[in-house]
Amino acid sequence: MSDETYVVVGGGLAGGRVAETLREEGFDGDVVLVTVEDRPPYERPVLSKGYLLGAEPVTSAYLHDAAWWRDHAIDVRTETMVTGLRLDDRLLELEDGGTLAYDKLALATGSWPRRLDVPGADLDGVLYLRDMPEAERIKKVLDSGGPLVVVGAGWIGLEIAAAARTHSVPVTVLETAPLPLQRVLGDDVATIFAELHRHHGVDLRLSTGIARIDGKDGATVSSVVTSAGDVLPAAAVVVGIGAEPQVDWILAAGLRGEDGVDTDATLQTSDPSVWAVGDIAAVDNPALGRRVRIEHWAMAHDSGPVAARAMLGQGAVFDKLPYFYTDQYDLGMEYVGHVPDVTTTDVVLRGDATDASEPLAFQAFWLRDGVVEAAMHVNLWDTGIAPLEALVGKRVDPVRLADTSVPFDQLGV
Ligand SMILES: Cc1cc2nc3c(=O)[nH]c(=O)nc-3n(C[C@H](O)[C@H](O)[C@H](O)COP(=O)(O)OP(=O)(O)OC[C@H]3O[C@@H](n4cnc5c(N)ncnc54)[C@H](O)[C@@H]3O)c2cc1C
Repeated sequence: MSDETYVVVGGGLAGGRVAETLREEGFDGDVVLVTVEDRPPYERPVLSKGYLLGAEPVTSAYLHDAAWWRDHAIDVRTETMVTGLRLDDRLLELEDGGTLAYDKLALATGSWPRRLDVPGADLDGVLYLRDMPEAERIKKVLDSGGPLVVVGAGWIGLEIAAAARTHSVPVTVLETAPLPLQRVLGDDVATIFAELHRHHGVDLRLSTGIARIDGKDGATVSSVVTSAGDVLPAAAVVVGIGAEPQVDWILAAGLRGEDGVDTDATLQTSDPSVWAVGDIAAVDNPALGRRVRIEHWAMAHDSGPVAARAMLGQGAVFDKLPYFYTDQYDLGMEYVGHVPDVTTTDVVLRGDATDASEPLAFQAFWLRDGVVEAAMHVNLWDTGIAPLEALVGKRVDPVRLADTSVPFDQLGV
């Protein structure tokens, strides 16, 4: 039996996957998972979709129930915040003044929402969707009828808007860019998302920011003043303006990284006893031939097991293409690949993406110099993502790519 202790920091999907894979792979030493949250590991996508829609209980987000962690002898230490790391001593410093020794360490601290910096941002009713308690607060706002102001037309903001409209809650979305998701999808596909939301009754105000939030009796949100000077009544404001990787104390300890923690393809950091997974890992990815940090579910899901196997000396490598998905109204979408600068790509649409009154069904490809950098499908589940993934990195003829009569296996040139 091993006398080593492997510690995981983080109670999200990535940390949970490291711990569960250590056991699945037969590691019989101590496994400790530390999380600042007051509950065992859970994943987050359902919080802005099935849960807000009322279709799934919040508990469906848990990786396992509390008994599973006990049965697998994984010591889940909740409400425990790590504040420091001493690499030379292999020691974590805890907020309560204690320390925790490790032989090997996996860091999975994820991201935390970027805060809004306008007058009134500290009022009750200004909400950020990252964890279960906040999801429960937003659900109550939807259940009581709103109205809701969403700040930021990114993935999370738009999913919340979709859930709200599905409950017939009046929603205004404020976005400083000229289109939602423009930086990720580019103008053509971003326009499709703008039309989708308008079709469902979202008051989508583009090139518009938030100037101020006003409160009832100075305590609870009552209205929002936009950068255009309009006053919008609001029962709550949900802010979705991006997230920051939680790496301050990690980089302060001396691990290499800039906005995340640099790792090699085995998720090992610049310290041979430490791995990084999920949102914080800036991975030197062989599938892309460059270093990328990806804040998406699949990254957390797939990087955890690779790190666990690497910690066990099994030589695992993370070589997957980035992948993500969203669900908004009747639009289900999968995306694969990575586009460093969407403004310099050519977008090819395959199928009819014009009629927002019907469930949309099309594919989109982002090409640089004729080579596919990324691809997505909307509602084409029979074909799915696999044939699109096979085209990433391949040179294609854009005219044939747009022609739905040309089969996928005849598209590479
Ligand atoms: C509402 C929502 C919906 C999403 N929907 C999608 C989607 O549809 N598709 C998609 O691809 N991606 C989606 N994502 C993104 C995806 O959920 C994240 O990429 C994923 O959660 C990252 O997992 P993680 O384990 O790296 O980090 P996290 O899930 O953020 O977990 C990090 C954990 O570490 C803990 N922690 C942080 N610092 C410390 C510390 N110092 N001490 C102790 N514990 C600490 C945190 O409390 C948390 O438990 C969504 C995210 C959110 C918030």
